[in-house]
Amino acid sequence: MSEKNYRLLGSPMKEPRGESISKSPNRGAVKIVSGPVVTAKTDFSVRMFEVVRVGVLGLLGEVIRIRDGEADIQTCEDTTGLRVGEEILFTGELLGIELGPGLLGTVLDGTGRPLRKLGEKGIYLERGAQASALSDDKLWRFTPATETGEEAGPGDVLGTVVEGSRFLHRVLFPANLPGGRVSWIAPEGDRRVRECICRLDNGAEITLSQRWELRVPRPAGSRLPSDRPLLTGQRVLDTLFPLALGGTAVLPGGFGTGKTVTQQSLARWCNADVIVYVGCGERGNEMTEVLEEFPTLTDPRYGTPLMERMVLVANTSNMPVAAREASIYLGMTLAEYYRDMGYDVAVMADSTSRWAEALREIGGRLEEMPGEEGYPAYLGSRLSRYYERTGRVEVLGRPRRQGSVTAINAVSPAGGDFSEPVTQASLRLSGAFWGLDKNLAQARHFPAINWRVSYSLYENLLSDGMEEMAGENWTALREYLKGVLLHERELSDLVRLLGRDGLSEEDKWALYHAENLKILYLQQNAYSPEDACFSLTRSAALLSLLRTLDEKARKAIADGLYYDEVVAFPIRSDLMSLRALPENALSEKAGEWLSAMETKFSAAKEKMGTRNESPVER
Ligand code: ADP
Repeated sequence: MSEKNYRLLGSPMKEPRGESISKSPNRGAVKIVSGPVVTAKTDFSVRMFEVVRVGVLGLLGEVIRIRDGEADIQTCEDTTGLRVGEEILFTGELLGIELGPGLLGTVLDGTGRPLRKLGEKGIYLERGAQASALSDDKLWRFTPATETGEEAGPGDVLGTVVEGSRFLHRVLFPANLPGGRVSWIAPEGDRRVRECICRLDNGAEITLSQRWELRVPRPAGSRLPSDRPLLTGQRVLDTLFPLALGGTAVLPGGFGTGKTVTQQSLARWCNADVIVYVGCGERGNEMTEVLEEFPTLTDPRYGTPLMERMVLVANTSNMPVAAREASIYLGMTLAEYYRDMGYDVAVMADSTSRWAEALREIGGRLEEMPGEEGYPAYLGSRLSRYYERTGRVEVLGRPRRQGSVTAINAVSPAGGDFSEPVTQASLRLSGAFWGLDKNLAQARHFPAINWRVSYSLYENLLSDGMEEMAGENWTALREYLKGVLLHERELSDLVRLLGRDGLSEEDKWALYHAENLKILYLQQNAYSPEDACFSLTRSAALLSLLRTLDEKARKAIADGLYYDEVVAFPIRSDLMSLRALPENALSEKAGEWLSAMETKFSAAKEKMGTRNESPVER
């Protein structure tokens, strides 16, 4: 391998700006090859997690253990054919990515290599392939936001470029470079990513791109409270288990319970500005579906392609485990980059279980002492390193701006058993737990969120913010829904003991209406254009309709109507049609329908009066 070839993926072509990089890489040699783990002979100092290029093909790897005169390397690529004695280049750098305009809309592998560019035939890469996801030649229209003579420091916005049709990409002063006085700033014009756009008095040159190490959190200013919702468009989640911008949610569920569909719905409909979707260890054909589907989706906000504000990271189960291990940190680094521009970013990983399996596999090869179910004892701390990078923050630099990174991680516990270590470790670190239920999925109740085990710690923090958006009765409506579901549980227990006929007329209605709420409110069809996404106000209108209907029906029953007489009206089918109405029509039509129902109940009551007076009936 030639010396100039050692340059890492994503490393800048010019000066490495504030990065520790050895100008002449050290060279070791392969001593032992054990699957993806390679032991190298070294007679120089090696950094933990240093990136290496192994053998003739230059396979990408990371140092994961250092011993006297030896280093263990986890390769991110298949080692078939690698021989003892082949050369290993120690680059002195940690795994990183070159960040800059042009990343949105790309599909990257777990180490940040662009899959489309390198593996045109599919999503597979050639071994040893090296490339940056950023295009060398593409010109970006740069508009400066600072002037010569101004002070500039980490995180400051130096200018902007427009990515895609409308994404405003803020060009930031690199967070790992000392500040200084601007001696030259590029005027408005077309620039390439690695062209200098700003020069400082101290001689430093800044380009449109900057490198960042994946495992190192990007610095931010002060943390802000989790009091703004990440709206998902899913009624059950937004109402019962809301998630805050900057929060963390875990989505555990057995096979076929709807993790992937739910994650994709969130990617499409949630109110984050940028989405980073990490397909982590899922089967190749599932990932291919994702890769094929996302580019066809239209952004519901602007009508432009959704991919214009998305980055996909694809790492399927047949790709090497080390790249899978790195992929979630890559996703997080990308998310932090857009957060630093002042955006709300959602990073979704599907699934944490496959990521943890990668850790287990690596730990096993290193003969580490296994913890519960063979996972390494540091599973929880590794996971927390990821989750700790989420949050809503005042970002670094001027002008003042806020940004957030919200993480939504799917977990696939074998047999849907939530007591297994990965679910438990995720649960401890997450603010919202959205447990998917096999029985609900089998009954085609989707999203199969089990409302009995799920929870959100953000509920109270978000109440004020959600009332501002949905109206001041939002909290009362939510409590109403919770009350109905709780009562339904008690009544179901009673029915098991006494049978349905043992219930009072009012309780029979309560049970029926709880079913209405489940079918019409908690269930949501991701494939139906009218139903797939509900704004908070539309959800509030629907829930309010259901609550008023409940009050009217109860009153009718208290006035003497039988349950059978109340449900003889086509309530459910009417409600279905009302639910399909667009937001502005829903409230109006709901009012009309409720008045009509009231009239029908009164008419039935009058009939009942004549019935009771009739001598035959008596
Ligand atoms: P998992 O990723 O947990 O294995 P999937 O997300 O692939 O499960 O979902 C399995 C199937 O469940 C989907 O193919 C779809 O038919 C159905 N499904 C899941 N969620 C929904 C939903 N919200 N609306 C309609 N169907 C759904």
